[in-house]
Amino acid sequence: MDINSLKKLLGSDCLITDKNKMRSYLDEPRKRFHQSALAIAIPKTVEQVQAIVKWANKNKTPLIPQGGNTGLVGGQVPALGDEIIIILKKLNKVRSNNENVNHITVEAGLTLQETHQIAEKNGRIFPLTIASQGSAQIGGILATNAGGSQVLAYGNARQLCLGLEAVLADGSIYNGLTSLKKDNTGYDLNNLIIGSEGTLAIITAATLKLFPAPTSYETALVAIESPKIAHELFLQIQKTAGNSLTAFELIPYFGLEIQLKHNMLENDPSAGFSPWYALVEISHLNQDKPNLLEGILEKSYEQKIIGGATSIAQSEIERENMWTFREQMSECQNKEGASIKHDVSVPINKVSELIEMGINAIAKIDKNIRPCPFGHMGDGNIHFNFSQPMGGNPKDFMTTAPKIHDAIYDIVIKLNGSISAEHGIGQLKKELLAKTKDKQALATMKAIKTTLDPNNILNPKKIFL
Ligand SMILES: Cc1cc2nc3c(=O)[nH]c(=O)nc-3n(C[C@H](O)[C@H](O)[C@H](O)COP(=O)(O)OP(=O)(O)OC[C@H]3O[C@@H](n4cnc5c(N)ncnc54)[C@H](O)[C@@H]3O)c2cc1C
Repeated sequence: MDINSLKKLLGSDCLITDKNKMRSYLDEPRKRFHQSALAIAIPKTVEQVQAIVKWANKNKTPLIPQGGNTGLVGGQVPALGDEIIIILKKLNKVRSNNENVNHITVEAGLTLQETHQIAEKNGRIFPLTIASQGSAQIGGILATNAGGSQVLAYGNARQLCLGLEAVLADGSIYNGLTSLKKDNTGYDLNNLIIGSEGTLAIITAATLKLFPAPTSYETALVAIESPKIAHELFLQIQKTAGNSLTAFELIPYFGLEIQLKHNMLENDPSAGFSPWYALVEISHLNQDKPNLLEGILEKSYEQKIIGGATSIAQSEIERENMWTFREQMSECQNKEGASIKHDVSVPINKVSELIEMGINAIAKIDKNIRPCPFGHMGDGNIHFNFSQPMGGNPKDFMTTAPKIHDAIYDIVIKLNGSISAEHGIGQLKKELLAKTKDKQALATMKAIKTTLDPNNILNPKKIFL
């Protein structure tokens, strides 16, 4: 096909075909997928996105939407080698930002961090928070239905989006940029596109919900005997704090041990050794109950749910140190050699079973493998990771990955959980999805894809085999 005709259509400054210049768009964060691309298109307007999609349909050329390139399942990089990657970063305008309303309309290429900053200027928050927020863009966030550490109170990307604008696979525009809270007029197309990982449409803009900014936080790192006790404590806090409980994260001692060993923390955020910790945060909108968390923890101590080793942040610096500890959990494992990871969820009351069964199953494969399950306990979402045996050979450890994956995913399925809680399917989990998803659900998903994208132009070989 004649790529020059696309160059003419867009202008040469919007199309990269030089292999060396393309490289940075082809590598994803975990460097697991290695394919070339036909070209990189960098449109500046929605009309240019439409022109690319129309051209691609005519020339039967596959397209991949790419935002901040922080996705962890290879959805944003090529699977075939002859795709054109569409970079959305230049669609980064704020379309409307009115001080008197609790929503904002922005283009897909705005980063999550930039969106936070704009909301903050109006005394509000856009509460979705993830460690990749400096690069991840609104389009990518919605295409993956991203989660993060505040889902407990505010929901994931899906719950935070009121309206969408997207270019469909034939190049036409879907304008669903509503700010309505209530709209029961047939199928919910916004929610079909959210989480579709660039396989149904290219998101170009979104109307997002904003919330009043909390006036203060109570943050604690609570020593916990076991994940079962963590669940008890979670219920106890939720019963009293309701929606002001904005985070409940579970972290094993192993995480603290390696962060201290590799000097990753300015100060030890804990009040002493414990096999597990819960990072708990309550966000206050006013000063009515300033010591709410402290009171609940005292009661839990009296009821012997928790012991005494609780550290309550006394300053913003201490709070930040606790969150740094949590946010460094993925990174710190890299310092201990190879790791094998699973982003899974189960009903919240099954998290302790998941962890116990998973640790036991992997110990049977090799008792020296070091479990590192951590994450969004309050959402039933655990990053069930394993570090290689100390001093072992990383390559040898990685040969056990298929066995470890099978063992963990079998348990997740048994507990009625999900094989992908946050990161999606992309290329990484498409075989697993084919094996584990309800057959009728998968067939319906494929029928939707074929109807909306009959030429299979948008992100082929992602989600589906
Ligand atoms: C350090 C780190 C921490 C992370 N923490 C979390 C976390 O806590 N929770 C979580 O959920 N995820 C997390 N992620 C994963 C990742 O950041 C999210 O999936 C994020 O939403 C991806 O946004 P992005 O703009 O980088 O999208 P990309 O990586 O560029 O793309 C991801 C997918 O979305 C599609 N896409 C991108 N833009 C568009 C668009 N405009 N229209 C249609 N499709 C599009 C792509 O084709 C691809 O399938 C983390 C990643 C890293 C590296």
